[in-house]
Amino acid sequence: MRRLTEEKIVLASHNAGKLREIGDLLAPHGIEVVSAGSLGLAEPDETENTFAGNARLKAHFAAKASSLPALSDDSGLSVVGLDGAPGVYTADWAETGSGRDFPMAMTRVWRELTEKDLAEPWFATFHCTLCLAWPDGHDEIYPGEVNGRLTWPMRGDQGFGFDPMFIPNGHERTFGEMPYEEKAPISHRADAFAKFTSAALGL
Ligand code: IMP
Repeated sequence: MRRLTEEKIVLASHNAGKLREIGDLLAPHGIEVVSAGSLGLAEPDETENTFAGNARLKAHFAAKASSLPALSDDSGLSVVGLDGAPGVYTADWAETGSGRDFPMAMTRVWRELTEKDLAEPWFATFHCTLCLAWPDGHDEIYPGEVNGRLTWPMRGDQGFGFDPMFIPNGHERTFGEMPYEEKAPISHRADAFAKFTSAALGL
């Protein structure tokens, strides 16, 4: 398992919500972070059918283009009653052709669950797979998750994406109702990050 010894990395994500969470998690470790957007890097198409595959694709693309180690995140929501959908296609479910519409995507999840006549609880998992790739082609994978259940109607206007319909285990409020400070440490990204800091930084 390779350790990160470089002091500067690229964050291979263009999602503002993810950039904030990952940037905050890295800040205490003294690692300088530059975003792929600020370097003018393009976003590669996510053509793989696993979280790890897409995370690898994004991290290697940014590492090669910037000549710096690159950290990427591929994430999504897997709903047990929908056989794991939307899964790696989570962002696609929100695509409208002129931007992303998450209330529309959440409505589709709810509609598919009710069309299948599935009784609650609607178990679901947020996945986050981090990939750290180096310009020489090596990579390491750190998977994270948070389990919970879905609720309807959606609740809360904090967070992003599918947060307003997801209640993490051990809680009664949705991620959308939680202040950022409450969601961040229990999220799937925090779980993946704990693995990253332990394996890559030796902490
Ligand atoms: P990707 O990793 O860029 O493929 O996008 C994954 C999608 O999953 C995002 O567009 C969000 O809709 C959703 N997602 C990932 N993490 C979260 C989260 O913490 N809360 C809500 N939605 C999330």
